[in-house]
Amino acid sequence: MPRPVPQSGWLTQESGWLTRDPRPGIAALLGCPVIMVNDANLAALGEAVFGAGRGYRCVAHLTVRDGIGAGLVIAGTLFTGAGGYAGEIAHAQVTEQGDFCVCGNRGCLATEVHGPGVLRSLAGVHGLRLTFAELQALIARGNPVMLRYFKDLGSLVARPVATLTTVLDPDCIIVDASLENAAAPFIAGLTEELSNRCPPALMSRLSILQGTLANAMTFGAIAAADSVTRSAVTASPPPFTPAAPPRLPSQS
Ligand SMILES: [Zn+2]
Repeated sequence: MPRPVPQSGWLTQESGWLTRDPRPGIAALLGCPVIMVNDANLAALGEAVFGAGRGYRCVAHLTVRDGIGAGLVIAGTLFTGAGGYAGEIAHAQVTEQGDFCVCGNRGCLATEVHGPGVLRSLAGVHGLRLTFAELQALIARGNPVMLRYFKDLGSLVARPVATLTTVLDPDCIIVDASLENAAAPFIAGLTEELSNRCPPALMSRLSILQGTLANAMTFGAIAAADSVTRSAVTASPPPFTPAAPPRLPSQS
């Protein structure tokens, strides 16, 4: 689900194309329980459990696709906050008087960076028909416009990520594997700006890595299903019967 998903599992607003809870219908079709998880959270869980985040205790993952989001995994567990908004850096304000956003705020990172916006930014140099494969090839050849674009993008995303990093003190930030060649300039800009905005002691122990799973969301779905299955099993422990207290000599 490319929107915040509250603990209750259902959205009351901002759902866009959804007007009712899809889970009962899908569960009826599949014949099994259905859970709904935000897509950036799934990617974070996938990389934390199966990918670059293995071995780290507090992992923040940045999804950079047609939208931008973050997911937080602490000690192997997805952290979604009280209402499902944790990690929604797309709705952190980066421009005070920027465009209005679907979330109700304005100047959000989401209004500054999105798929069509990327093409528009590059249209003057590469036209509006630039494909992902062409973009990757240009970066591989060291195209200065592409390298600069993704370094600047990393710097922009670093603004909300710096706050998140200072508050949460993650030991690992993972950048979306699907950026492919664009990950290196993105990480360069991200690291430079985080170094300007975060305490040095925090930065000195922070690893900033490119993800290893292009399909991290699928792996996250597997981890989420496994977690739900195991918690369902442990949710019904055998009844607890307290042992009888020992009889003291004075009670005889
Ligand atoms: Zn917003």
